[in-house]
Amino acid sequence: DSITGSLKGIIGKIRHQDDVASLNRATSELKKAFLKADVHHKTTKDLLNSIEIETKKLGIGQNNFIKVLKQELERVLTANGNQGFVFASTPPTVILMTGLQGSGKTTTTGKLANYLKVRNKKVMVVACDLQRLAAVEQLRQIANQIDVEIYFDENEKNPIKIAKAAVEKAKKEHFDVVLVDTAGRLAIDEELMDELKDIKNGINPNEIFYVADSMTGHDATKTAITFKEKIGIDGVVLSKYDGDTKGGVALSIASQVEVPLRFIGIGEKMPDLEVFIPDRIVSRLLGLGDIAGLAEKTSTIFDEKKAKEVSKKIKKGEFNFNDFLEQLSMMSKLGSLKSIIGMIPGLSSAMPALKDMDFENSVEIKRIKALISSMTPKERENPDLLNPSRKKRISSGAGLSEVQVNKILKQFKSASKMAKQLSSKGGMKGLHNMLS
Ligand code: GDP
Ligand code: MG
Repeated sequence: DSITGSLKGIIGKIRHQDDVASLNRATSELKKAFLKADVHHKTTKDLLNSIEIETKKLGIGQNNFIKVLKQELERVLTANGNQGFVFASTPPTVILMTGLQGSGKTTTTGKLANYLKVRNKKVMVVACDLQRLAAVEQLRQIANQIDVEIYFDENEKNPIKIAKAAVEKAKKEHFDVVLVDTAGRLAIDEELMDELKDIKNGINPNEIFYVADSMTGHDATKTAITFKEKIGIDGVVLSKYDGDTKGGVALSIASQVEVPLRFIGIGEKMPDLEVFIPDRIVSRLLGLGDIAGLAEKTSTIFDEKKAKEVSKKIKKGEFNFNDFLEQLSMMSKLGSLKSIIGMIPGLSSAMPALKDMDFENSVEIKRIKALISSMTPKERENPDLLNPSRKKRISSGAGLSEVQVNKILKQFKSASKMAKQLSSKGGMKGLHNMLS
């Protein structure tokens, strides 16, 4: 239910140049798609207004409409500044993590710690959620898993004291970053707000992050506004962006809360965190996939150099079966399948069933692997070599029918073509070709 599904239909409504009625039809469809994707009604209204105005300025047409749509979505998402992590001028950078219970604070604290650790930062996480017994243990396990320092004090019942002592220790021991995990509540409550205010006053954090559960749709926006008013927030991390979220919540938060979106959580595992990059979110919102994001995601876990090579190859249209095989084996090791599927252009909308697929044991993947392993090294490097007689040989080698072989080859070809179009400078043209 993202904006994706309807986009083709929406753009198809624009038939004639300078036909205002067709533009109106398209914007009214777009409005429905926005609201369905959980974009706030006010955000929707503002967006549609500017899309209409800007498209008319450029001249009504499908290309201009797509260009303006993309540009306006990006404008909203970048309006509030910084993405990613901002380091204080003198370490340690102290971040206070806030949010409702279950929003993903503790997980996000771990993910951020991991994100910083793989970038060679000395990171401490601090257990200040004393509301629930299991909370400290949860953070302890996470800290162990990613091998970062945790500060906690079983004998201390006052989270403010814990936070202060942790920051002191971090200063003495030259930590780069301190991430303070706090307690949440099921709903906004004064006691919680007071506790957070006290911790804030006690440690004077460089930034306060609000972790918003994107699955809660409009509520995420409302609660973020309250947190901003009551304690002041400097950045939002959108968690659970991998789930059945409708995506529009990113637009709503950016435009209604007016605080920069910093990171998105795209799975339960530690590597499932990404810097919030607006054009990627727009691509995903519009169902265009995100090959660059995929390459980057693999790079944090695997070989950064290799990932760069891969994205370079994609851009040049040289992505071959060897690369594909390598990506496949990486993928099976990556965090969560759903998040990966969303990054591959066209795949999430073309094959929704894939989302629930068991990656390593899937028949499709096994077939692809069988097919590639029956190719010669030269064929793997240059898929264009595959003439009918070679295909025949491969099909018998792989135990697949020729129809199956052709199908897979065709999928591969269109996937790499899409990837090239999307990652090259002619991104807009690529988009248009894809949709038409
Ligand atoms: P807290 O109460 O705010 O500390 O929330 P937790 O960090 O304990 O997270 C609550 C639940 O949400 C846990 O089951 C997490 O695994 C899950 N979770 C957190 N972030 C994400 C995410 O980005 N994607 C998914 N799918 N699950 C997440
Ligand atoms: Mg927690």
